[in-house]
Amino acid sequence: MADVILKDIRKSFGRVEVIKGVDITIEDGEFVVFVGPSGCGKSTLLRMIAGLEDITSGTLEIGGSVVNDVQPKERGIAMVFQSYAIFPHMTVRENMAFGLTIAKASKEEKESKVQEAARILQMEDLLDRKPSQLSGGQRQRVAIGRAITRKPSVFLFDEPLSNLDAALRMDMRMEIGRLHEQLAATMIYVTHDQVEAMTLADKIVVLKDGKVMQVGKPMELYHEPANKFVAGFLGAPS
Ligand code: ADP
Ligand code: MG
Repeated sequence: MADVILKDIRKSFGRVEVIKGVDITIEDGEFVVFVGPSGCGKSTLLRMIAGLEDITSGTLEIGGSVVNDVQPKERGIAMVFQSYAIFPHMTVRENMAFGLTIAKASKEEKESKVQEAARILQMEDLLDRKPSQLSGGQRQRVAIGRAITRKPSVFLFDEPLSNLDAALRMDMRMEIGRLHEQLAATMIYVTHDQVEAMTLADKIVVLKDGKVMQVGKPMELYHEPANKFVAGFLGAPS
C-alpha cells in the first residue's frame, strides 16, 4: 500500500513561502499529474515527497506512515528527472543497476532486475552501450529503468519528457502510460504540458503560486474548471 497524503504542506526558502498549505490525497496505484506554470512549486513539492527537500510544516504520509523525517532511500520512492541524470562513463546496465549497487545488492539480483527493467522498456539489446551511443529517448528510458530496478511503490517524474522532441515525447508518453499499467505503482508526474496531463492522469492537481487551484479527473477539469486560471490552463475552448 502506498498512498501518498499531503496535509497542509508548506515550504519556505528563507522568508519566502513558496508552498502555501497544500492538501492532496493520492491513492495507491493512482497516476496523478501536477500541472501549473513555471515557478508555481511543482518541483519543490516532488522534492519534498522524495525527501530531497525539508518540509517546513505540515505532514507527509506514504503508505500510512508519516515520513517527514524519513531518509529518501527509506521512503520506497524513485524519482526520474528532466535531465536524465545518467552517468556517461557507465553502460546502460550499470546505470540501471546504480541504485542497487548503492544498496549493495548481489550481482545476480542486479542482473535479474536489470533484465526485467530492460524487458519492460524494450532495451535488452542495448545493455552494453554507453549513453553517448543512445538516442535522447533511449537515454530517458535508462533513467526510467534505473527507477524500475529499485522496485519503488511510488514513482516521481519531474518533467521527464521536456528535453525530447515532439514525436519522441508522444512515444515516451505512451510508454509511461504502459509502464503504469504494468507496474500498478503509484505515480506522481509533473508537467506543464496539457496534453501529457490530459492523457496520462487519473487525477490532475492544478497548482498556482504554491496553492492548489483544483483537483479532479481530466474531463472534470476540462468541462468544469473551478476558475479562469484552470480554464485557461486545461479547460475546453469557449
Ligand atoms: P516549478 O517546478 O513549478 O517550476 P519550483 O518548485 O522549482 O517551481 O519553484 C517554486 C518557487 O520556489 C520558485 O519561485 C523558485 O524560484 C523557488 N525556489 C525553488 N528552489 C529554491 C531554492 N533552493 N532556494 C530558493 N528558492 C527556490
Ligand atoms: Mg520544476
